[in-house]
Parts: sequence; structure tokens; C-alpha cells
Amino acid sequence: MTRLVMKFGGSLLASPHGIRRVGDLVERVRKEGAEIVVVVSALGDVTDTLLQAATNAPGWSEREILLTIDELKRLHLSAIEDSSVEKDGKTELVGGVEASLGNLKGTLSGISILGELSPRSKDLVVSFGERLSAPIVSAEIRARGMASSCLSGGEAGIVTDNTFGEAVPISGTTARSVRKRLLPKLTRGEVPVVAGFIARSTSGETTTLGRGGSDYTATLLASSIGADEVWIWTDVDGILTADPRVVKEPATVPQLSYAEAEELAFFGAKNMHPLALGPARTGAVPVRIKNGFRPELPGTLITREQSRSRGVVKVVAFVRNVGLLTVAGETLQGRPGIAARVFSALASNRVNVLMISQSVSEANISMIVRRTSLKPAEEALRRELKNQGIVVEGDPRVAVVAAVGAGMRGERGVAAKIFEAIASRGINVRMIAQGSSELNISFVVNEADAEDAVRALHGRVVNHVRG
Ligand code: ADP
Ligand code: ASP
Ligand code: MG
Repeated sequence: MTRLVMKFGGSLLASPHGIRRVGDLVERVRKEGAEIVVVVSALGDVTDTLLQAATNAPGWSEREILLTIDELKRLHLSAIEDSSVEKDGKTELVGGVEASLGNLKGTLSGISILGELSPRSKDLVVSFGERLSAPIVSAEIRARGMASSCLSGGEAGIVTDNTFGEAVPISGTTARSVRKRLLPKLTRGEVPVVAGFIARSTSGETTTLGRGGSDYTATLLASSIGADEVWIWTDVDGILTADPRVVKEPATVPQLSYAEAEELAFFGAKNMHPLALGPARTGAVPVRIKNGFRPELPGTLITREQSRSRGVVKVVAFVRNVGLLTVAGETLQGRPGIAARVFSALASNRVNVLMISQSVSEANISMIVRRTSLKPAEEALRRELKNQGIVVEGDPRVAVVAAVGAGMRGERGVAAKIFEAIASRGINVRMIAQGSSELNISFVVNEADAEDAVRALHGRVVNHVRG
């Protein structure tokens, strides 16, 4: 029997009749005889709303807390209303939403009284999105005559360390406990619904896996239970050759390797968690990205195979929320050890460096960090390098554009085509990097030029190289 993990994204769940649509998709695949574990995200933008609430709660009064609670209540009650669940079931679901929102209100009030948000309370607050959506989806599935129960990520067996906000799953323990919790349910013919993104630390606290973490939940569960495939249902036809909000009518990429998809996740395509492909790759579980509005389409299949497409570059992606950090000065020249000091100062201040490049003259080192780390990174480097004739500068208004595709390996002239396309629009390139895997060429431009750069590349490189 085919065993699938099917994950439903927030955009699909919150679309008109989204819950029924999910019910239809599960029912259809189940009728074909597959065993299914369902993973759900929070509805729509609920995680953003919760993050904002957590961040602002230290300065909030009761009234502001209630406004957020009311907004969440309205959204979930309308999803329940719109579902196929019968009347008594709806009343029960509404009771559940009210109880969860009561807990959330208590947590936000606690943060407001303390006047301070700890990483631990922040994770607890953002976990409510998936806690609220999972029971609704599970009830929809039961309403269609299938047995179903819902579990939080922790209840499903995902165990992490306690790096709140970006918790790291402990693989052996997770695999064992997921099998223990989920396999008996599948054997009984149930369709378990697991709240994505959230997990439990070894000491029992609620943790989250980081933004886009439901995709990660799905691949973790799939590799643990030996699923045949993971299907990620979303609101677009698959992985597209560029962000559809930037490029008109991008094409769907039929196939990608795990390595290519990992690069894309890292560079922000489809808001996928950067580590989500890891468990799928390790367990050799194929991943399909499919459009919930057009299930008949094949979508994108991610497997081990590294195919060459018609164009060498398969996808143009970009990341906005980054900053450029430059360390410059004559004294950098020929002084061994400065680079080491730069990176160890950043590491000890927990700044993650996403891209590095050093000019041949050695007179400067440029780095890309997340925009939220830019200020702390600048301060750390100024402290470390003071009185040495070195200037540290940070620029928050930049973006990274990346051309990704395995065909670039050993293919001459790709970089030239890329930079000609950018130059033809008069866009200034601030920094260039090429991963050693040769799966991507990425470069930094001013944020205001990023969308134009993506369009220029998409038009000239994705469709036309070797066309
Ligand atoms: P979900 O709610 O299903 O998890 P996400 O918000 O995580 O969906 O990501 C889906 C959105 O990502 C799409 O609606 C699309 O606008 C955007 N996107 C950006 N780049 C790409 C790309 N290269 N391929 C597909 N989608 C992309
Ligand atoms: N709800 C979480 C987020 O918005 C996880 C996910 O949707 O994958 O990041
Ligand atoms: Mg997502």
C-alpha cells in the first residue's frame, strides 16, 4: 500500500472553501487506497499575526490583546462555518477554538505584565496557529467518513533541542517516537492530522522549527515512517522558474534534485524551510509540490536525480531581508588572521553569515547576513577591529538574487550571460558569490533593483540558454 505524507499550506487552507478542498484532496487519495498522514500549517497569515502579537505584547494593554484574539476568533470561526462538519461537530470545534484562544490570551497577558518576551514564550505564542488549524482539518476528514485524530508536532513524536525559534530535531529519538505514535494509527486505518512547525524539547517545552517549518515537519515524519512520497499542497503549480509575484507567468519546473531544491529554499523560493529537504534526501523520499486548486497537474517532483533542463538555469530566486556588511582597509592586505578574527567575532555573537566574498586586492571582505543581525554584527566587528585602520560598514537595503540549476556545472559562459543581462538594465552588482557546488550563482544588488534583476535574468537566461 502506498504511504504518503500530505502537507497543506496556509494559503490553501485559508482560501475560500479551503478546508473542504483539503477534505476533497484527502478523500480522493484515500479512496485510491493510500495510507495518509496529514500535516497542516496555520491558516493564512496567522503566524505573522501571532509573531507581531508576541513582539508587541510587552507594551500592550488588555484592549490590544483582545483585538488580536477577536481577529483570530473571527478567522477560525469562519473556517469552521465553511467546513463540511455537521452542526454538533461545529459547536465542539468552536468550543475548542475558544479554549485555545483563552490560553493564548493568558499567555499574552503574562507577557504584557512582565513587560518582556522570552524566546520560550515567543515560541509558545506562535505555536497557536497550527494548534488552532489542525483540529478543524481533522474534523473535516472525519465528516467524510474517515477515522482521524489530531496531534501537535510534539505529540506526533518530534523531539528537539531548546533553540527556541529554530529548534533542531534530534533525529534518532524523533524517528523512534514518530514511528511509535503514528504507525499504530495508520494500521488502524486512521488519517492522523499533525500540526506542522511545532515540536517539543527534550525538557517538554513547546518549540518551533523556524518559518516555513511545516514542510520540515512533513519530511521529518515521512523519513521516520518510511513514507513513499511527501506531497506538499500549495497555491501555485509547483516550483516555478521565478516568483509569480515578480515575473508574469513563470513556467513550472517539472523536476529538481534535492540539492537544487535546497539551494532554492535557502534563497527564499516558495518560502520553504531551508532544512526541509534534508530528511527527504536522507531517507530518499521523493517530494512533490502540487497545486491544491489544480490537483490534476503533475507539479514539481524533487528526487535524487540531477536532470538538465532546456535552460541551464532552472530558477531565479531572491531574498530580500538581508544586509551587506563590508570590512575594508589597507591594513587588511597581507595580514593573515584578520579574516579569522572577523568570522570568529561574528560567530561568538551568534551572527550567521549567508554569503562571503573577498576582493582579490584583499582590501575588503564583504558578507551577507540576515537583516535583523546586521546591527549586532556591525557592533561586534567595530569592537573587535577598533584602532586598526579598518572601516566596518553595514547596508540594510540590499537583496540577494540567485540563479539556480545543476546544468551550470562545467558550462562555460553562464556567468557572462547572467551579468550581461543585469548590466543591460543598468543595475549595479554589489557583490558576487558562487557556491562550490556550482548549483548557483548569486549576487547582491540594491533592494530597489532586485525585482528588475530577477525579471532581466528570467527573460534572458532561464528560457534562452541552449534553447
Ligand atoms: P504555503 O502557504 O503553501 O506554505 P508559501 O507561502 O510558503 O505557501 O509559499 C508559496 C508562495 O511562494 C507562492 O504563492 C508564490 O507566490 C511564492 N513563490 C516565490 N517564489 C516561488 C517559486 N520560485 N516557485 C513557487 N512559488 C514561489
Ligand atoms: N505557520 C508557519 C509559518 O508561517 C509554518 C509554516 O507555515 O510552514 O512559518
Ligand atoms: Mg509555507
